[in-house]
Amino acid sequence: MSNTMLILLLLVLVLHQLAHSQKKSRPNILFVFSDDHAPHAIGAYDGWLGSINPTPAIDRLAEEGMIFVNSFCSNSICGPSRAVIQTGKHSHKNGFMNNGNSFNWNQQTFPKLLQKAGYQTAIYGKSHLKGKPLGYDDWAVLPGQGLYFNPDLIFPDGIRRVDGHCTDVVTDLAIDWLRNKRDLDRPFMLMVQHKAPHRNWMPALRHLPLYNDVYIPEPTTLFDKWIDNAPGARVQELEIDRHMDLNYDLFLDLTPDFTQLSSEKSQDRSAWRNMKRMTSGQLATWRNHFGPLDRNFHLNGKTGKELVRWKFQRYAKNYLRCVKGVDESLERMQQELTQLGLEENTIVIYSSDQGFYIGDHGWYDKRWMYEESLKMPLIVKWPGVVKPGTKELEMVQNLDYAQTFLEIAGAPLPDDMQGRSLVPLLKGMFPENWRKEIYYHYYEYPSVHMVPRHYGIRTKRYKLMHFYQFGEEWEMYDLKVDPDELNNIYGKKNFAEIQKNLTERLFKLRKFYDDDSDTSIRTEYIEKYRRKS
Ligand code: CA
Repeated sequence: MSNTMLILLLLVLVLHQLAHSQKKSRPNILFVFSDDHAPHAIGAYDGWLGSINPTPAIDRLAEEGMIFVNSFCSNSICGPSRAVIQTGKHSHKNGFMNNGNSFNWNQQTFPKLLQKAGYQTAIYGKSHLKGKPLGYDDWAVLPGQGLYFNPDLIFPDGIRRVDGHCTDVVTDLAIDWLRNKRDLDRPFMLMVQHKAPHRNWMPALRHLPLYNDVYIPEPTTLFDKWIDNAPGARVQELEIDRHMDLNYDLFLDLTPDFTQLSSEKSQDRSAWRNMKRMTSGQLATWRNHFGPLDRNFHLNGKTGKELVRWKFQRYAKNYLRCVKGVDESLERMQQELTQLGLEENTIVIYSSDQGFYIGDHGWYDKRWMYEESLKMPLIVKWPGVVKPGTKELEMVQNLDYAQTFLEIAGAPLPDDMQGRSLVPLLKGMFPENWRKEIYYHYYEYPSVHMVPRHYGIRTKRYKLMHFYQFGEEWEMYDLKVDPDELNNIYGKKNFAEIQKNLTERLFKLRKFYDDDSDTSIRTEYIEKYRRKS
């Protein structure tokens, strides 16, 4: 071989490598996102679930990637969390502050910018932002909360029913897109957005027997009386004891022809609507599971704390059964990536829109800035970039996702986004001036569950919250010694300096994020939705 030929051959090889590495520098993004899945219901996050392991696939993702231990939302409720992710802006900036709002799809969102950067984008499942999603090459979204069984989905060409359990239906749609609708010449960003494990916690039929004979450990705060909290914590409506409904939330004696008492009309009836939607076969399996358990309940009539404990068991089991479905979905999606040869160049992300109370503080639902609902799971596998099995301790938020996706795609980062790309952290770097605190603001009152408006700051060690709706109420916690937030240290002499420092930082944060929303709103306690205990 002549020298010229050798040089030419080398040149071809170098060019080939260059093209390959350029292709590699634009990885695909698979973003699996669930609803109300608290980190403490994931094996890889340490929680009270102990030996019960509801999430082997998610745990494996953490072993292969990075788990963000200090991951938080900025407004703990479904729609607003998703709007923050779409825009990289806090609720007061993107305009979607409450679930009752409608998202302005005409504003800048990360999927639109990814499209501009040459990515193919798709979303399947729960959007919760109302209106037709913009910025996606293909999509199918649940109307509103959607149903667990045989749900309707809105497709670009209209609405139609798809048979099956919602988690499976959404996974099937995403897999079909990967196999048949993907543009082989472009990198993709695929969002698989599950309804589960959102209320009313209705698992796929195959998961009903799961945890049947298992005792779910109770959280230590199951019988919390909120003695040290601001008054809001005592007038909420999300207690397992007083507000979780035996029929609609726990399916006791619930059938499609169930007749509700007039006093119970304010109940969320989605469980009942799902039953009306089931096929006779699905319904028979459902009733065969719960029928004997219901008869047993009536034979052993429980009251007081024993009733709370019974409700907690049934609730937690159904919640974890729904989680199991989500875990299986992640597993199936990853298997599909492998089969299609996409595993090496696809970033896989698992997250959920906020945390949740699974009996913690005696509650279900979310909304509060307390730890269980403030925290979000975030696990990222990035083959060849993220060091497997890494625990990241820096403070991150859903506010950061948009810029992270854009940097991954090599797209420009807009100046008006308010988060920070997580790419340096994913690459194992220690970025200077990483945030030392996060900002939070919840707005939805009066509304279901009656959690008053509040905002606050959380550092790695402390939390300060301002509840302003019923007057001037503050809470402060030292999370290092009081992780359950039972001992309010606001106004205590020993903590005066820390309190002053946190208060200053909180008001600086409000300025930094330009949150000038009205905090002078004052409301009386509203008992409209309140049921008799
Ligand atoms: Ca949610």
